[in-house]
Amino acid sequence: MDWFKKPKYTTVRVSAKKKTDIPDNLVTRCPGCSEIVFNKEIEKALRTCPKCNHHFNIPARERIQLLADNGVLLEETTGRIKAANPLEFPDYTEKIEKGSKKTGLQDAIQAGICTIGGKRTALAVTDFDFMGGSMGSVIGEEIARLIERAIKERLPVVIVSASGGGARMQEGIVSLMQMAKTSAALARLAAAKLLYISVLTNPTGGGVTASFAMLGDIIMAEPNALIMFAGPRVIEQTIRQHLPKRFQRAEFLLEHGMLDMIVKRQELKHTIARLLPISCP
Ligand SMILES: [Zn+2]
Repeated sequence: MDWFKKPKYTTVRVSAKKKTDIPDNLVTRCPGCSEIVFNKEIEKALRTCPKCNHHFNIPARERIQLLADNGVLLEETTGRIKAANPLEFPDYTEKIEKGSKKTGLQDAIQAGICTIGGKRTALAVTDFDFMGGSMGSVIGEEIARLIERAIKERLPVVIVSASGGGARMQEGIVSLMQMAKTSAALARLAAAKLLYISVLTNPTGGGVTASFAMLGDIIMAEPNALIMFAGPRVIEQTIRQHLPKRFQRAEFLLEHGMLDMIVKRQELKHTIARLLPISCP
């Protein structure tokens, strides 16, 4: 029969459209190296690409699992306050509800008390999946309260930022006031001689970069994280010049003295645990 004379293997050309038909839950095309990688392998590597070390975004809940001893907060301090819509901004309430549904959080932050490497620590993590991790009145208040608690109990503070959204525009001046509130709280923490480690992840921007994210006694970032105030496109259009390659990426910022270190996700917990004993007992 003719059928058996056909070559055993045939090359199947997959059209660009069909490539996206691969089930999402099985493989991912890595934005770093464009390779198709099994999701299982990405998960195993703590949501990084095993081929090029691209760091994928992770939700706050998973970040806490990664950093806190036993993967849990001993006490969660967030979840009791919810954003109002002070300017009656159209669709803001719906966006909050959508973010809540997506992340299971009241707002773009999860925080509490945990131990890291056995050291009692106040830990806060912002969540990019909730309105870009943007800081409104809730994030500002939660961070300020956590810092006040840390001062009271003499704990070091670790804040992990995934806040590409910066200050939340839907809350206007109220969200901008959170920059001053969190910065003032951190000034009190510094006056109490307690350690603050800021961890910047991709992306961190706007009013978050311009306040608590850049005020760490130690500032570390994950590889290739985009850390900015205004984004590169806005800057290029304003100054009418091309920006250097890798501008605003963690490696560029380290070279220019904006960061203390770049730490791979796999080494993040160990690095923080090693640094925490610097703080007062
Ligand atoms: Zn990759």
